[in-house]
Amino acid sequence: MPHHNTKENANMSFSEEVTHRHGGETLTACYQCGTCASSCPVARLDARFNPREIIKLSLLGEKQEILTGDAIWLCTSCFNCQERCPQDVEIADVIYALRNIALEAGNSPNIYADFASALIADGRIVAISKFVEKKREEYGLPPLKAVHVEALNTILSATGFTKPEKKEASQ
Ligand code: SF4
Ligand code: SF4
Repeated sequence: MPHHNTKENANMSFSEEVTHRHGGETLTACYQCGTCASSCPVARLDARFNPREIIKLSLLGEKQEILTGDAIWLCTSCFNCQERCPQDVEIADVIYALRNIALEAGNSPNIYADFASALIADGRIVAISKFVEKKREEYGLPPLKAVHVEALNTILSATGFTKPEKKEASQ
């Protein structure tokens, strides 16, 4: 998988940086038709979010706006846009690549640090509540098995997974 370190990235344009990331490879095929925006359920609910705009800003090199803004974190990864893009731009994957760049720059929302802490400690990003256990029982589903946390942490270490730092001001 193509992946450049931060020093190498400093010598690239932002769109090059994104296309060299896993998931970001198809960025430059976009011709701004807007099919993604009209397919996106989040854009329908929140005018701040527009996948076509995220792609455009990435192509224009508006790195700070992308990395410090909220937009890339609002995508639900439903892949509607990606299924319909006439240029086969992997929009949701591009957004993952942008999130990874933002995360490395220390710009991820604090909730991701909470998810990471819970994953490392309990093997799940959200604790299983009594409510969920009861509902599973009602639907005839088996109880969720305990996670082998030690094995999981071995995998996390091997993949270089690290917990993002929390920012001072809560989001
Ligand atoms: S649907 Fe594809 S080509 Fe059209 S604006 Fe979105 S990413 Fe670009
Ligand atoms: S994957 Fe993200 S950007 Fe694409 S349609 Fe779904 S919510 Fe919108």
